[in-house]
Amino acid sequence: MDIEQFRKAGYQAIDRICDYYYTLQDKSVVSSVKPGYLRDSLPVEAPEAGEDFQKIADDYQKFIIPGLTHWQHPSFFAFFPTGCTFEGMLADLYASSTMNPGFNWACSPACTELEAVMMDWAAKLLGLSPEFLNTSGIGGGSMQSTASDSALIAVVAARSLYQRRHPSVTQSSLVIYTTTQTHSLGLKAGLILGLSVRALEVTWEDKFSLRGETLRKALEGDEREGKKPFILLATVGTTSSGAIDNVSEIGAVTKDYPDLWVHVDAAWAGVALSCPEYRETLHLNAINEHAHSFCTNFHKWGLTNFDASTLWVRDRKYLTDALDVTPPFLRSAEGDAGTVIDYRNWHLALGRRFRSLKLWFVLRSFGAEGFRDYIRRTINLNNIFASLVSASSVLSLMTAPSLALSVFRLDPKSASLNSTKALSPETLNDLNRIYYARISARKDILLTQTVLNGAVCIRFAVGAARTEEVHIRKAYQLLSEEGKLALEEWTKAGQNGNV
Ligand SMILES: *Cc1c(COP(=O)(O)O)cnc(C)c1O
Repeated sequence: MDIEQFRKAGYQAIDRICDYYYTLQDKSVVSSVKPGYLRDSLPVEAPEAGEDFQKIADDYQKFIIPGLTHWQHPSFFAFFPTGCTFEGMLADLYASSTMNPGFNWACSPACTELEAVMMDWAAKLLGLSPEFLNTSGIGGGSMQSTASDSALIAVVAARSLYQRRHPSVTQSSLVIYTTTQTHSLGLKAGLILGLSVRALEVTWEDKFSLRGETLRKALEGDEREGKKPFILLATVGTTSSGAIDNVSEIGAVTKDYPDLWVHVDAAWAGVALSCPEYRETLHLNAINEHAHSFCTNFHKWGLTNFDASTLWVRDRKYLTDALDVTPPFLRSAEGDAGTVIDYRNWHLALGRRFRSLKLWFVLRSFGAEGFRDYIRRTINLNNIFASLVSASSVLSLMTAPSLALSVFRLDPKSASLNSTKALSPETLNDLNRIYYARISARKDILLTQTVLNGAVCIRFAVGAARTEEVHIRKAYQLLSEEGKLALEEWTKAGQNGNV
């Protein structure tokens, strides 16, 4: 493809992307393809002779679009939202047009310098302590691919710090602390690094929040057994129910255990810190005071295209002491002089994408005000959903709504069941399995399920940028109707003796 062919194909691509967005809400959210559909449609190997690009572009429409789940669809309420804005798309286009794997400052000064400035913008937007700013010269932030990478980096840095402080401790006595609600990134870090992971219990009564007392008891017990917990992966906004670990109480405990690194994973909820009214709920002061590292994903609820996980550390030396390997071919005058950041020493790989460009485009185009408006708007939409569920005769909220996430289940009040008996927990779970099977058979909406305290329930996560109140009301209507149908299905099965 030459430059003029690129110009033509590029204009066409933008036109087609615009058409996609004009027609998105008329599509179904979920694809209807069967496993293996693409292998059946594509040649078994790359073509010997190069093909005409128009044919390639048309095949994208023909084969790929039908196999997509439309995460930007206004009726997408599954998992968590994934940011996707035109600003982000354009930034990615520019970034890929010059393709700089900016591992050292000297690789492309703009890549490193924009990232350092954007991480400071983002830190200020979220209200993080000046200690985390790159301008502090001590702490600092960098953009990672995912929250899982960010947590892995924190664990590697924490382990390295611990081992330098306690050279005689063997790796087999080291323990990573998580809770039973921590994202699988905790277990995965343990698996990758060959370290034990202990999941601390959190309870329904505490809204699945890790409390200081639980942490203290675990630390005391492990200390007696000679185990060495060296990092806690705390969560602000868990995946399952949006639970918020009590970072204030955790911080009070770690005062007595200065060797315990506190990493705060706020992959989804962290961007809500941009709104001052949520800072207390999300324990911002305690994060600022106690966290060694803090991560949030702008690529979830932060309007920025994947990947854009932001990771801050209180002391950049924690990272560079653990991750700096400088063979001669990577040395540079600026790096040796210590006057610049070489971001390769702040993450696991060598090369890195030019991610900060999309954050720059997004934060400038929306402005802090526009960013906060979006967060508030989606929280309001979730509140509308939650109040509809609260008033429902068949659905119930399982926990108080957390920001833009509600967890609910089918829970018929006895009148609608023509019975006065309360349903047993097992029966309710059976009923909700039927209910979720019905919902997930639909193509026009997507939600994910979870289990809280043994109870099968369903998550409703708001945040797709095009979701409006009408989509929320439509979703509620549909979920209520499916609830009633699930009850009928269940009652019939009962009458046939199948339950
Ligand atoms: C989504 C999520 C993650 C994982 O995010 P990745 O960036 O895909 O690794 C981790 N923690 C929490 C709380 C999440 O919600």
